[in-house]
Amino acid sequence: MAEATGRLAPSPSGEMHLGNAFAALLAWLGARSTGGQVLLRLEDLDRPRCPRAYAQGVMEDFAWLGLDWDNDPVWQSQRDDVYQEALARLDAQGLVYPCYCSRRELHTVTEASAPHGPGPVYPGTCRDLDPARRRALEAQGRRPALRVRVPDREWSFVDGVQGPWRANLASACGDFILRRSDGLFAYQLAVVCDDASMGVDQVVRGRDLLSSTPQQLWLQERLGLPHPAYYHVPLLLAADGRRLSKREGDLSLRALSKRRSPAEIVGRLACWAGLLDRPRPARPQDLVGEFAWERVRRQDVPVA
Ligand code: GLU
Repeated sequence: MAEATGRLAPSPSGEMHLGNAFAALLAWLGARSTGGQVLLRLEDLDRPRCPRAYAQGVMEDFAWLGLDWDNDPVWQSQRDDVYQEALARLDAQGLVYPCYCSRRELHTVTEASAPHGPGPVYPGTCRDLDPARRRALEAQGRRPALRVRVPDREWSFVDGVQGPWRANLASACGDFILRRSDGLFAYQLAVVCDDASMGVDQVVRGRDLLSSTPQQLWLQERLGLPHPAYYHVPLLLAADGRRLSKREGDLSLRALSKRRSPAEIVGRLACWAGLLDRPRPARPQDLVGEFAWERVRRQDVPVA
């Protein structure tokens, strides 16, 4: 396989938990097993929720596990000008429009129209707002989010772990947000800009982001950016069947590090991933030689 450029892309909004470490280990192995680079990007777009102390903690946790990275870390909170430029390019294509709907209004609409849908599909309320109505909303002091007009078109791609996947953006999510009403840029836009400008050609992340991939593929196409290869790895599930989250304090890496060595944790993660038959202490670099995507399991892993 050609050398891949991968990335670790944590959202430093809390302490890292085992699920984050699991995805990070596979991202690291995916790139290192090709002899390629691993880059670090801190996804701290939501500045109030991502104080620097958490980012520092995440970097320490990666280092403790033996997951190293090349080059200086990239901070999304410092890249507004890059996102603004991409937004302007989409706007120049007539794809961007202001949306004045509040979260509450949308909730009511989507609940009424799609009670069992997979997630909220934007119903297009502000898509063709007439100028007078727009001015009236502005006059009320409503600050708009910016949305992008998506096509009614099916996307298909092959995920390196989950296999073939297809989705139509219009029915899967509708016109999605590029910039929130509070001025913060949205993940979908930032991730596409950053993966391209960092030269990332291998994206490894949790399966929960599989459904975001068609949005990202489409933005890449509109912005003339290359498509990376995608690998969506299984999620680690807590006892109640929910995926681990930052609220599961007992599975935070910090808490575990008091009773386990990094090699024990890495060995356990590798076993859950399908790379080891039984858990045995291992450093990430010990696993590089035996790593192969065909061996990585596809189904979520109950860990509690
Ligand atoms: N920041 C996201 C997370 O921590 C990952 C986003 C991505 O890999 O595209 O789950």
